[in-house]
Amino acid sequence: MERWEKMKRYLVKPGQKINLSEWDPDEKSAWQDSKKEAKIEFSNINNKLEEYQELLYAEQKHKILIVLQAMDTGGKDGVIRAVFDGVNPAGVRVASFKVPTSEELSHDYLWRIHKQTPGKGEMVIFNRSHYEDVLVVRVHNLVSKETWENRFSHINNFEKLLSDEGTTILKFFLHISKDEQKERLQERLDIPEKQWKFSAGDLKERLLWDEYQKAFEDVLTKTSTKYAPWYIIPANRNWYRNWLISSIIVDTLKSLKMKFPQPEQNLSEIKID
Ligand code: ADP
Repeated sequence: MERWEKMKRYLVKPGQKINLSEWDPDEKSAWQDSKKEAKIEFSNINNKLEEYQELLYAEQKHKILIVLQAMDTGGKDGVIRAVFDGVNPAGVRVASFKVPTSEELSHDYLWRIHKQTPGKGEMVIFNRSHYEDVLVVRVHNLVSKETWENRFSHINNFEKLLSDEGTTILKFFLHISKDEQKERLQERLDIPEKQWKFSAGDLKERLLWDEYQKAFEDVLTKTSTKYAPWYIIPANRNWYRNWLISSIIVDTLKSLKMKFPQPEQNLSEIKID
């Protein structure tokens, strides 16, 4: 089976009703061989990603937006480190969205997001995103139900605007299990090099696991579109998660059929004294 065919099982079809308990965070069926071979293949795909990103930057035509969302400890930082290792920093940027500042809060919730979207030739990775405004904001009742419910259609329209204007959008939900989160939080307590990542707030959020899962199910069900699809990435295993995300990005970049720009004149006629 073509790799792309295998990837499609993780794609949320527009309107598909998502029940996350039916999606196994340990699943790894697109990779039949050993983990060791997957790591080799991952490094080949990484090289491809570097090549395509160079082309993206040179061509100055396409804009790429990659959205990462997950439960706490889901592995967003790990993906950013592993998948984008080696790309040219001149053309790739990470935008992290934290608790909004008072200036951000005084505008509509997409204001701070739109400013960070990619320009031509650029690839931008959103570490959290406008989806926080229908996730944490919903779970903590920071706005009324009517307000967050209206946001699904704003978000779809906003992403349609970006897509119509030449942005290719890929959205990844890193799906971990509640047990896996427990292990990862425990590691943050036990391993000195990881202790800086521990926040007591994460334990409070963990108590709201079910509410977050429900909010994610709504996001996935209502905002996966042809022009801005969601992929549910089984993320209990880091190597599988990294391999899968890299593969989807590389296949998408390949499908853009990018080309290096033609030189302005016949270079063979130019003589350097
Ligand atoms: P991360 O967990 O992504 O590594 P932080 O520990 O700094 O980074 O967490 C960022 C925090 O900002 C998260 O708790 C997240 O829920 C919060 N946040 C992001 N966007 C919003 C928003 N629009 N409204 C409220 N909180 C938000």
